[in-house]
Amino acid sequence: MEIINRRQRMSSVARKIRREQDKSIGLVPTMGALHEGHLSLVKEARQMCDIVVVSVFVNPTQFGPHEDYAHYPRDLTKDTALLTDYNVDYIFAPTAEEIYPKGYATYVNVEGLSDQLEGVSRPGHFRGVATIVTVLLNTIRPDFAFFGQKDAQQALIIKRLVRDLAFDTEIVVLPTVREDSGLALSSRNAYLNSEEREAANVIHRSLMKAKEAYKAGERSAGKLVDLVRKTVEAEPRARIEYVNISNADNLDRLERIDDQPVLITLAVFVGKTRLIDNVLLNSAGKKKDALVKT
Ligand code: AMP
Repeated sequence: MEIINRRQRMSSVARKIRREQDKSIGLVPTMGALHEGHLSLVKEARQMCDIVVVSVFVNPTQFGPHEDYAHYPRDLTKDTALLTDYNVDYIFAPTAEEIYPKGYATYVNVEGLSDQLEGVSRPGHFRGVATIVTVLLNTIRPDFAFFGQKDAQQALIIKRLVRDLAFDTEIVVLPTVREDSGLALSSRNAYLNSEEREAANVIHRSLMKAKEAYKAGERSAGKLVDLVRKTVEAEPRARIEYVNISNADNLDRLERIDDQPVLITLAVFVGKTRLIDNVLLNSAGKKKDALVKT
């Protein structure tokens, strides 16, 4: 395995793999502090592709001015050990200056999809995400790129980006990996103390309650939203920022649930830590969401 820090080296290595060796490339973009959620993407990439590249880059442009960019967990040594175990071929770990040198001026914005949910709470976040993903796709030109359903809105935005800008990469979205308690794995869980970690279980519990109510026949989005809110509000350490029920294909807000694929998304503060999660309803025919685990 080779760790590559320079963009030019990364693109020339990738070019050689494609042209001279005629091998397929899978890219797993991450911000490091790797956990089993990331590793599930790496495993799938390893199965589907000849060469696996994992990028580890805490992308400054997707953090707001008062967010946790400076404190975001970074441990490239530990990440490298994990990725070696998973038989990854290349780690692409550039510095911020390497990606955004002096004079960098070009940003990518996926309109509409980026302006709702997380985009309202975190203005500019998806512009940063779309920009870094564009740079990575152009640098590596992978056949496949792997993303997690944990960040459902991000996955939709990346799919739209790839379609609109005609990237020759197939986007693969994989189910959310969870702890036994139901808490979605996240690098930000490291910020939680033990009481907060316990309290954070309310997030998944609230989504499961909504899913049960839906299964029992409830079709009013408002009632399901209320149920999620009430469940979260019963946990004193948790504060709900938003909960939303939308069409899972385009994020259009729903009042009634019919037979369209439906996404329930929420953002919750547990103490000072902001966590997001989601569940799919009516997702038959799609890759099964790990949340279905009952
Ligand atoms: P991040 O390092 O948080 O930017 O995440 C990198 C990739 O891993 C994104 O595509 C995430 O959606 C995905 N990911 C993060 N947490 C999980 C999880 N618990 N299960 C599955 N994928 C995840």
